[in-house]
Amino acid sequence: MKRRQFLRTIAHPLLCAGVLSPSLSSCAVRGNTPAHIVVIGGGYGGASCARYLRYFNPDLHVTLLTPERYYYSCPFSNPVIAGIEPASIIRHSYTGLAKNAGVRLIHDTAEGIDPDKKTVQLSGGGQLHYERLVLSPGISFRWNHIFSGYDREAARRMPHAWQGGEQTLLLRQQLRAMPDGGLICIVVPGPAFRCPPGPYERASLIAYYLTQHKPRAKILLLDANEHFSKQDLFEEAWQQRYPNLIERIPISAGGLVLAVDAKKMQIQAEAGRFRVNVGNVIPFQQAGRLAVDSGLTDESGWCPVNHQTFESLHIPNIHIIGDSCIAGAMPKSASSANSQAKVCSLAVVNLLADRPPGEMVYHNTCYSLVAPDYGISINAMFRYEEQRIKLIQQAGGLSPLRAAGAVRRAEADHARSWYRNIHRDSFASP
Ligand code: FAD
Repeated sequence: MKRRQFLRTIAHPLLCAGVLSPSLSSCAVRGNTPAHIVVIGGGYGGASCARYLRYFNPDLHVTLLTPERYYYSCPFSNPVIAGIEPASIIRHSYTGLAKNAGVRLIHDTAEGIDPDKKTVQLSGGGQLHYERLVLSPGISFRWNHIFSGYDREAARRMPHAWQGGEQTLLLRQQLRAMPDGGLICIVVPGPAFRCPPGPYERASLIAYYLTQHKPRAKILLLDANEHFSKQDLFEEAWQQRYPNLIERIPISAGGLVLAVDAKKMQIQAEAGRFRVNVGNVIPFQQAGRLAVDSGLTDESGWCPVNHQTFESLHIPNIHIIGDSCIAGAMPKSASSANSQAKVCSLAVVNLLADRPPGEMVYHNTCYSLVAPDYGISINAMFRYEEQRIKLIQQAGGLSPLRAAGAVRRAEADHARSWYRNIHRDSFASP
């Protein structure tokens, strides 16, 4: 072992954190020891940030704290639900981050943060000391908010499938089990929610599944919104591919849901009461539970941050990225989370070196599949201007309307390669 490597190993903050040696739990990381950055949450935001912190400064000690050994992604979960892709496509290992990027992994849950002592409490016992902390804990659900009767228990009968994994498979299995001629209801929450085009991609791909297997079944979208992302493109595609199969009731026509009865499989909306065979109820959302409990959110339920550094406006030395933060014009997407992670990691590295955070540019690309051979997309660039993340006009844009089949096929292929690439980029996998 080289001398530098050896010194790094013995000085590693995990030793000081009581994780590897409880007897040393009060020891702090100071002096010449490289700074220790703790990243909480191994989704697109957290994994990318851990990787890029090490990329921008290979001397940093970076620990990624996330509960599971595998990450189950939401991107491409809709094709899994529709039986177009195997379940294995959404399962991602973290080992690339350790092997290829030198990130230390701890599979545990952060229970609390002490910003004065700069420590994170782990649910398995012990704590981690940080110089700066990055949080990317995704979303949490506002159970029984706006509509009553929908909680964790109800989600076992009427899955939200808005977090990847078990819920994805439950919805897929319910679709397979339902009778032909049945009704599938997708309840769309009001803003802000993760992946604005997600419910409409889901409706499209479920419609594709029905045309193949249950041609007499129907889809009802009860929508707490008036307009939605890529609306013209989706509606054009539904006309072409799935005429009379998808009905959408926007909020102005009574699409707001008031109550859910999961035992009776009934959904009460302003427009009336619906008995459904499959209920996909997506609840209203807020920042990840840890961010809410740590006082990092405002009255909107999301975390206000400095748009150049993603440092919390409530607590210093804590940065919040991904779905949990309020990021101006950027939507809550994996692509945004990955881009914010790069900006944030560069800012953290510069701040630690007493340099200005840097000139920041951000990016979001969001593909949606309407069928296996039919893709549409939206693309946007943003920059930091007047202390806000602002859209750069004319950079990017939407797929064209009335495009040839070859264009839609090419976009479906691009969607698949986007997914492979963001996975490699975020999780440092080969
Ligand atoms: P997450 O990916 O949710 O990661 C959060 C992580 O934090 C999880 O691993 C969680 O276990 C961990 N965590 C939470 N609390 C703690 C704690 N206390 N301690 C330790 N760890 C914790 N985006 C796109 O760009 N393109 C798409 O095609 C796309 N498709 C989608 C389809 C669907 C159906 C849905 C629902 C979403 C889709 N998205 C898509 C959105 C995308 O999934 C999210 O925007 C993205 O996952 C946000 O990343 P994140 O890091 O903020 O949160």
